[in-house]
Amino acid sequence: MQPPPAEPGMREEEVDTPALLLDLDAFEHNLDRMAALLEPTGARLRAHAKTHKSPVIARMQMARGAVGQCVQKVAEAEVLAWGGVPDILVSNEVAGARKLARLAALTRIARVAVCADDPGQVAAVEAAAEAAGVRLDVLVEIDVGAGRCGVEPGPPAVALAERIAASRHLRFGGLQAYHGSAQHRRAPAEREGAIAAAAEGARRTVEQLRQRGLECPIVGGAGTGTFALEAGSGVFTEIQAGSYAFMDADYARNEAPPPFRQSLFVLATVMSRAVAGMAVVDAGHKAVAVDSGLPLVWGRPGLRCVGASDEHGSFRVEDGEAPALGEKLRLVPGHCDPTVDRHDWYVGVRNGRVECLWPVAARGAMF
Ligand code: PLP
Ligand code: MN
Repeated sequence: MQPPPAEPGMREEEVDTPALLLDLDAFEHNLDRMAALLEPTGARLRAHAKTHKSPVIARMQMARGAVGQCVQKVAEAEVLAWGGVPDILVSNEVAGARKLARLAALTRIARVAVCADDPGQVAAVEAAAEAAGVRLDVLVEIDVGAGRCGVEPGPPAVALAERIAASRHLRFGGLQAYHGSAQHRRAPAEREGAIAAAAEGARRTVEQLRQRGLECPIVGGAGTGTFALEAGSGVFTEIQAGSYAFMDADYARNEAPPPFRQSLFVLATVMSRAVAGMAVVDAGHKAVAVDSGLPLVWGRPGLRCVGASDEHGSFRVEDGEAPALGEKLRLVPGHCDPTVDRHDWYVGVRNGRVECLWPVAARGAMF
């Protein structure tokens, strides 16, 4: 772990770069906004910690009503549980006996659930729970249109749920029904169509389970691009949005983008102006993820990113004044989640001053 790039009380311009900057006013606004938007729908927030990887942020979300957290990895679940988060869903399949043993052990300090989409996985989770002498909650993941993981809605999901419910070492925890590829469909009508179909698949499965005497404690899904649709569907009980707390340039490109402010930035310093019309900063793709597009510069639309190599971000001055050598720029990442994972520290700023430093505690937690 690297030392923090700043100290409380510093001015933003003094922060060492590249640094992961969190605008605390915008960030807290986003947390409050999501809580307010979900409140009348009856759906609860189980925010996704794959985005923030921080028990500090998890607890801030829970203080505003979130029922718990989602993670994708057992190692993320461990970091949250060790940090005091009491209720964690691994919204994902877990492969490997070693990881499942760790997950079972974690139930001693937190409520833990995991997903499955295959009887072989259910047997593996069951073996881990039995060996640890605990009971694990298992949700059936259904494929509601993304074509990634999950059994078909309807009878295949019911069969898997019955297999789980029949085990002395497991509890049937409900349905995982996340439609990932719908999040960035640009047109609202496309997102609506995708989530209407997803909700229909989930509703049909919930009904068939009920006919077999199985209730769903959780019907979970949704991300930042579609959460209002799932929350309004009447079938989803838990919303798993993560990016809403930070936002990114890719979500901002959605038509009718999610109603949140950009709160996450990578602060970078102009380190070269040697080439005419160009400004090169000390943050390349090792500091800001480019898998969903190159970064923007906050408040400087005339600077266009034209390339990111390992340690260099290259900007063409298309309009307005060129930034000076040594000037600090706030970059808006194309994709927030992997950008966070490239940093050890959040530098929380308010009114131009550093207010707090929080570790990205689950950075690199991929096991
Ligand atoms: N739920 C699951 C299962 C996910 O994989 C993701 C992100 O990929 C999310 C929720 C959160 O999505 P977002 O960060 O876009 O809100
Ligand atoms: Mn993402």
